[in-house]
Formats: sequence, structure tokens, C-alpha cells
Amino acid sequence: MSIYEVHDPRFRALIQTSARLEVLGTGLRWAEGPVWFPAHQALYFSDIPNDRMMRWTEGTGLSVFRAPAGYTNGHTRDREGRLVSCSHGTRSVQRTEHDGTVTTLAASHGGRRLNSPNDVVVARDGAVWFSDPTYGILSDYEGYEAPPEQDTTAVYRIPPGGGEPERVITGFAQPNGLAFSPDGRRLYVAESGSSHDPDVPPVLRVFDVEGGRVGPGRDFARVEPGPPDGLRVDAKGHVWCSAADGVQVFHPDGMLLGRIRVPETVANLCFGGLRGNRLFITATTSLYAVFVNALAPD
Ligand code: MG
Repeated sequence: MSIYEVHDPRFRALIQTSARLEVLGTGLRWAEGPVWFPAHQALYFSDIPNDRMMRWTEGTGLSVFRAPAGYTNGHTRDREGRLVSCSHGTRSVQRTEHDGTVTTLAASHGGRRLNSPNDVVVARDGAVWFSDPTYGILSDYEGYEAPPEQDTTAVYRIPPGGGEPERVITGFAQPNGLAFSPDGRRLYVAESGSSHDPDVPPVLRVFDVEGGRVGPGRDFARVEPGPPDGLRVDAKGHVWCSAADGVQVFHPDGMLLGRIRVPETVANLCFGGLRGNRLFITATTSLYAVFVNALAPD
């Protein structure tokens, strides 16, 4: 049976129908936060309940990169090629410098600790945007159980050059994955609150962004079966989003183009590989990959 489910004929231009879904590694507990480093030809990601970061390369396969890892979750690369990570354990956003030392970019807002930064993206101007739901403090499974100190969940922006994170988006139950459109003028944010509350709609919301300021949000797409978690936008603006049944691909107009079925619940994904056209998928206990006809925006 094909892994591809075509909802709109335009989906065919985005997939390689002969490409199969490959299992690159398994034995994980909850795989999240993949990021590709072209300079290393390596993928890094989190295995959150095992408190470790993993590394995968074509030649060496899967190995442990860092353990303990501060219960990291989402990762990204900044404009200077450095690793930027969300850490449930330290309730902070951290940057790994080129010499391997770790710098804390944000750990509090208004003098109170963050909840548990979940996913992160760097804007064109170098500002670091991250989501701060409560998953990492709800129990001891993915961090350390603790009462929230913030009065809400939120998306924050650390200004270019650093400083106190500004609270830029509220109104979500649990804001999760986030990604900019290729021109940087739209920000997509996943609402994953249906993980704990079935009354929360499993949606992606989109916000207009101008000069670091955010306009009012609107629903972009419903992701079913949800909830949506991590997402990426390709170079042409298509939105590739995690779902309980695999990866769902949306046109910038919000239309569902198609799905790539994955046998485990998908938490997150990213583009990478030698040509940038390989989709890496972190899905519960396994790391998967499939070649596609799409590229990361950079
Ligand atoms: Mg996430």
C-alpha cells in the first residue's frame, strides 16, 4: 500500500512516488526536535524521556550525541550555524557555541521561570522565537514536575543580539511547533492542547509578522488526526506538519494537499540530507526518512 495519500493533484509535484519510507533507527522513547547540520552532514534530535540527544549520519547511523541533555526538545540552527535548543530540564532556550560551550538565551520572563520551552525557530533578523507550553513540567517523564510560574503559555521572541524574551503570542492552550514562511512575513504556530483536552481544536494558526511585531492570528488549517506538533515550511511555502497518522502537507492557502503515512505518531520533522530534499521524521520510537520534491527555505 502506498504511503502517499493525494488529496489535491498539486501534491504529486511535491513527492517522489517511488521513494519509500526508510527506518533509520529505533529504540527511542519519544523522538522530537530534528535539525540538520549541512556542515556535519548529520541530523541531531532529542529522545526526551531518555534525557539524551541523538545523532544520525549516513555513514555511522544512529548514536548518542549528548546524555544527559537537560531533557531537550526542539532544536534549530541559527544564522551562524550554531545549535539552538529548547530544554525542559533547565526550562530554558540554549545555544551551543562553535567551541561546544552552552549559553543560556532565555530562562525567565518578568522575573519568573519559563514553563518548558518546546520548539524554536530563528527569524531572518536573528531573533529567536520559541513556544512555551507546560508539557515539560506536567510530570517527571519529560522533565521535572513543577507548578508553572508564568500566568499563561505563550510564544516568545528574543530580540536580535539577546535580552529579555518578549511575550508575543498568547491565547493558545499549548503552543507547540512554529515556522516562518520563506519571506519571513508569516508565522505558523501549532496548537497541540488537544493532547490533554479534547475540547481544544487541533489547528495550525498563522500570524502576520512585520519588523518583529505580530498581527492578530487566524486559523490556517485543522490537523486530523491531531494534535499537530512540529512543522516545517519548504522553500515554496508549503507547510509540512506532524500528525498522529504521519505528515500532512498544506498549500500556503491552507488546503490539505496530501499525507505521507507513518506507522507511528509523528512529533516533528525537518528537511536535510546531501541535497536538502530528504524529509527526516521523528515519530515516537523511531527515526524515519523519505526523499521528497521539496527543499528547506535556506
Ligand atoms: Mg514539539
